[in-house]
Amino acid sequence: ISVSDLVSESFNRINAVDHQINAFLTLNEEEARNKAKALDDQVGPNSSILFGMPIGIKDNIVTKGLRTTCASQFLSNFRDPLYDATVMDKLNAENTVTIGKLNMDEFAMGSSTENSSYVKTRNPWNTDHVPGGSSGGSAAAVAAGEVFFSLGSDTGGSIRQPAAFCGVVGLKPTYGLVSRFGLVAFASSLDQIGPITRTVEDNAHLLQAIVGHDPMDSTSANVDVPTYSESLEQGVNGLRIAVPKEYLGEGVDPEVKAAVMSALKVYESLGATWEEVSLPHSKYAVAAYYLLSSSEASANLARFDGVRYGVRSEKAENMIDMFKMSRSEGFGDEVKRRIMLGTFALSSGYYDAYYKKAQKVRTLIKNDFEKIFEKFDIIVGPTTPTPAYKIGEKIDDPLTMYADDIVTSPINLAGVPGMSIPCGFSSKGLPIGLQLIGDHFDEKTLYQFAYAFE
Ligand code: GLN
Repeated sequence: ISVSDLVSESFNRINAVDHQINAFLTLNEEEARNKAKALDDQVGPNSSILFGMPIGIKDNIVTKGLRTTCASQFLSNFRDPLYDATVMDKLNAENTVTIGKLNMDEFAMGSSTENSSYVKTRNPWNTDHVPGGSSGGSAAAVAAGEVFFSLGSDTGGSIRQPAAFCGVVGLKPTYGLVSRFGLVAFASSLDQIGPITRTVEDNAHLLQAIVGHDPMDSTSANVDVPTYSESLEQGVNGLRIAVPKEYLGEGVDPEVKAAVMSALKVYESLGATWEEVSLPHSKYAVAAYYLLSSSEASANLARFDGVRYGVRSEKAENMIDMFKMSRSEGFGDEVKRRIMLGTFALSSGYYDAYYKKAQKVRTLIKNDFEKIFEKFDIIVGPTTPTPAYKIGEKIDDPLTMYADDIVTSPINLAGVPGMSIPCGFSSKGLPIGLQLIGDHFDEKTLYQFAYAFE
């Protein structure tokens, strides 16, 4: 099969199903077909494994010449960043073909992709349900077969939760493993770009392509990276699993719990052992996460002022009004809510009570994980408390939606890697995700466990 055929297949599938799914915000059809044609002549025995692969990109990763909106009206006209994100440079070096940009919650704030200011993405397994978020487009496009590879970003669960809801494989790498240069920042101390794929093996290859130290990102780690695909078949015999009781407590759907328990049985049959443990500070994770992520967001989003790029209000008559009106018109409700919360938490007189306190809680959460990894190889639990819910069900109740991040947000606070793999279906036929959590820079063990289960 030629690259052109492969790319055509991708667009055929998009033409056939995306009017129902709405995974894509912008298609890159002409460019993609031209690149495919050029690649057809280059393929050879030494081509990389990702050579010519169609790939979709979350719309908060900047792409030269291809619109990047972050699903916000503010960036509806943002077509010309001065540079490609580092992950795009790396993908281009592997000769992948960018098919288009994928829908998300505005500025990655949300859990259902309903906060996109353009369109609601639907869950391919049941189009009445949400695909999860904020990387809902990235997960839905893979689940619907529009692309086999996509990139998402995860600040508090945004790769793993939509992967779970859509029945695909999603990895949030260790903080610092993948460069954030060119990822539009939401909460810089938590954000990571990561791969979403159909299979575990594909996931390992896509991660391999995007990792590595980047001098353009001061938080990028300079560490030796193993060949992830080599660990896939190593099995889990003799490895020790920790199962945090807080992750299977109140609020977790019985069907989700049952799916996790049967996954543990599978691991037992493969020679691993498991034990219940406690992550005692888990219960504070959601509060600390929203406090810290909103504080960072309020600072990061200050750059959207209508001056250099993005949309400028046409009604303003002076400079201050221009800032105010551009922001009032450009940002949606959820983004405004986070900016207000963050600005409040950082204001003098409140800083110690909120921001500083949340930072201390973050350290306690990180310590909880470190203690577990002294004795165990991996932590296993659910990715989400419930399978995908219906579109519209939670959108008017932000706090209920925030509470669902209970099992994903601690992982970002600790900076460790987390992965979601499909582990069954609910009685309504919706996918359930198993979350695998590793020690810092130990993605290798996650892939071992994921592959053994698959
Ligand atoms: N649901 C979380 C939030 O709304 C996570 C978002 C993310 O990881 N980008 O902030």
